Amino acid sequence: MTYSENIATLQPSATIAVTTLARKLAEEGRDIIDLSAGEPDFDTPSWISDAGVAAIRAGQTRYTPAPGLPDLRQAVAEDLLRNAAPGWELAGENVVVSNGAKQALFNVCFSVFGPEDEVLVASPYWTTYPQTLGLSRAEARFVQGPEERGFRLTPEDLERARTPATRGLILCSPSNPTGTVYSAEELLAVVRWAREHDVFLVSDEIYRRICFSEGGGPAPGLTSLPREELGRFAIIDGVSKSFAMTGWRIGYSITDAGLARKVGAFQSQTTSNPATPSQLAALEALTDRDRADESIGGMLEAFRRRRDLVVSLIHEHLPHLGIIQPEGAFYIFVKVDAEYSGEIAGSQDWCSRALEEHGVALVPGIAFGDDRYVRLSYATSDELLEKAVRRLAGKVA
Ligand code: PLP
Repeated sequence: MTYSENIATLQPSATIAVTTLARKLAEEGRDIIDLSAGEPDFDTPSWISDAGVAAIRAGQTRYTPAPGLPDLRQAVAEDLLRNAAPGWELAGENVVVSNGAKQALFNVCFSVFGPEDEVLVASPYWTTYPQTLGLSRAEARFVQGPEERGFRLTPEDLERARTPATRGLILCSPSNPTGTVYSAEELLAVVRWAREHDVFLVSDEIYRRICFSEGGGPAPGLTSLPREELGRFAIIDGVSKSFAMTGWRIGYSITDAGLARKVGAFQSQTTSNPATPSQLAALEALTDRDRADESIGGMLEAFRRRRDLVVSLIHEHLPHLGIIQPEGAFYIFVKVDAEYSGEIAGSQDWCSRALEEHGVALVPGIAFGDDRYVRLSYATSDELLEKAVRRLAGKVA
């Protein structure tokens, strides 16, 4: 059977593959500590789940408009405006609500990029970006900042990678997989470069509320910058990570109203609206601000404590491994290439050994574009984190 050119470069998600294997081994009775997951280990706060249940009981089970409920689109705009720099105007017409940030990203990339377009992707990158671009028949071109700067990009790095075919840039801050966060100044420099070269900037801000930088509050994002500094852009965001709502499948794109109409039309012909009760639960999450701040604050505190714990455990038990100091999200990118030799030739071999010999599931860095590293997710209990690092150090716990 031959398949369409549309899926010629398509690969299944490497992170989901590791998580599925870890679950299978656990079901077979193996003692597995799964540090591969890309989702919070917390349950959705009950007041949000209650809103979803109430929606179902109230018969809110029919279609909504394809780009989402007007109230939810408006709430997304208002939520972003809360921390926006002066001069920003956003309303429901700028927002399309989708089945997770993943669909929001796909909708935007498919609507904006196409054959002959080159799109720069900040590396290490979330595994889905090159696949999404491949499905859009655009070409991903990876660009990496210096390791000692947590791989963050400057206009000089970008300028070196730019060609006459460069149409876009995908950036993720706080980053999956490194947890690094761009400061507002660093972001501004990138934004100015993009505007100068008419590069469409896709800013994935799904982890923006999970940020440990001094001063608190969400990580700097495009709306933290003066509106007039921006050229063409899309913000990708959603409730999955910050409200522990990965299974509800609600994400959104924020763009100019013209592109939002195109994205909405595209969605109307592909999936229609995301699940109606999920939209109503997300509306509750974004509008009950006191409870939202309290719930997010609690999860953030736990993530910060675990980040500190894992960093110190790695320094203590695996001092020969390097790490990129994470400032947000819930991942640590650990440099393991000092252990490559003989049969362990790269991050995939290293992770296979970690799973087979120590029962610890991690994601090979090669899935994110850097084979020297592995990604450890600390979205699990302190006890399991400690046990996992001890196991990896050969100090079996
Ligand atoms: N963007 C990044 C960087 C992610 O890590 C993820 C999920 O892992 C997503 C987007 C997708 O989020 P969602 O579950 O809302 O589709």
